[in-house]
Amino acid sequence: MSASVQETALANWLAAGLRCIGQISIADRSGEGFVLTHRDDDTSRNDLQHYGNAVGASEIARFDDAKNYRPLKTAPNLRHGWRLALKDIAALRIALDLFYPGRLAAFLAWEEGACATTPLRATLERQTGMYRASAKISVDEANALVGNFCGSDGGCLRTILWKRDENGGVASTRLPSEKCDPRHDQTGQGAAVIPLLCQEACNLLVAEARKIVRAAMPE
Ligand code: SF4
Repeated sequence: MSASVQETALANWLAAGLRCIGQISIADRSGEGFVLTHRDDDTSRNDLQHYGNAVGASEIARFDDAKNYRPLKTAPNLRHGWRLALKDIAALRIALDLFYPGRLAAFLAWEEGACATTPLRATLERQTGMYRASAKISVDEANALVGNFCGSDGGCLRTILWKRDENGGVASTRLPSEKCDPRHDQTGQGAAVIPLLCQEACNLLVAEARKIVRAAMPE
């Protein structure tokens, strides 16, 4: 999918009123570019740290407020206190892809009915090497793990599209149904959002599944 196709889609989403993505608010400066801020920050504050180009997004996204590395970019721990000015839609696309890698392309594919998903069980069963053990996780253990690890309240802001296994089944009965609704704002703030879609379980979830299996193995 080309960059220009994504930029056209992004412009259309903004025109349709989708002005938030994850924890980021997008302000359109009417032909003079865009300004991104953390949704929880008061934009009239004059102490926001200023960044002037898309590369600033990777620096902002790297650590949380406590300066801890953020291994999961869609976790709800984006740091506060910054303002990122971008000159045009191309720069906006690059910045959003640095904040939330691959998520614009995923949403565009979903809108076009071309977003392929992989059931959790299939993702676990295709693991090799040290992660092969993750496939041994039981249905109940996986249900609890996904409920704890993927929840929007402290876990991850993605909207889950995948099913439990090839026969379907919700990702976890411990998650609210909105967790699988791309129109729902996973921050709970009720805005119209560009959603962060999850087409298949990430490596971090697979690693957690492995830990559970390993912990239950005899010494
Ligand atoms: S599996 Fe998807 S929803 Fe769960 S933590 Fe990973 S990226 Fe987020």
